[in-house]
Amino acid sequence: MKLTFLGTSHGVPAADRYCSCVMIESGDAVYFIDGGAPVIDELLRHGRHPDEIRALFNTHVHGDHTNGICHLVDLADWYFKKSSFDLYIADQSYIDAIGVMIKACNPGSTLSPDRLRFHLVDPKVAYEDENIKVEFIPTAHMRAPYHSYSILVSEGEKKVLFSGDFSQHLERADVPKILSEEEIDLFVCEMAHFGTEHIRPYLDSAKAKKIAFTHVFPLAKYEKIAQMSAELTVPVLTPKDNDVIEI
Ligand SMILES: [Zn+2]
Ligand SMILES: [Zn+2]
Repeated sequence: MKLTFLGTSHGVPAADRYCSCVMIESGDAVYFIDGGAPVIDELLRHGRHPDEIRALFNTHVHGDHTNGICHLVDLADWYFKKSSFDLYIADQSYIDAIGVMIKACNPGSTLSPDRLRFHLVDPKVAYEDENIKVEFIPTAHMRAPYHSYSILVSEGEKKVLFSGDFSQHLERADVPKILSEEEIDLFVCEMAHFGTEHIRPYLDSAKAKKIAFTHVFPLAKYEKIAQMSAELTVPVLTPKDNDVIEI
């Protein structure tokens, strides 16, 4: 599977970084993890078409992970009428609100439930098609009644774990256990809510073959990440927008 990092910033964009969004290409299909970047614009700039989108998976509803979804769905609704995809969203309030927003932009919108299929994430139910399997693992970044998840994407034997956002200073110990229990080809880890000293014990016990740090705040933390990377035994990447990782 091919991962293109469309947005690598944390809650606020930077001059050269959009907010969180990763495009996954597997088989003939396109998938997204979060939609904090201008999803539809970036899809087209990277030479893919809305008709090729199969699904978008959302870690949580904070705007830096969702603000590009409305534009994507609006255009899929009224212009790209052959597009047909699933959207797995962490909270029902966002699903309800996006329908209202799109109707506010376009009174003629139909939001066909046959083509634009919104689903509330249920961590007990995995997504699976002929290309990939996607599992949601609850985290404690969001407080009740909201929800947040890490997302595990498998393509055959290959596995990528996307952290989503974790709790402040990891004080709610919400790094998924699977990180230390199973061999994972790539761990994509946010770095906005805790320091290198907080995540280090989890990385030392991780079975990940490679780690990519993204969603980094403040940017000065890249220095600390570089220092920690020199001590880790696995390759560490710090992708910028448009960087590609093939798994
Ligand atoms: Zn975030
Ligand atoms: Zn967040």
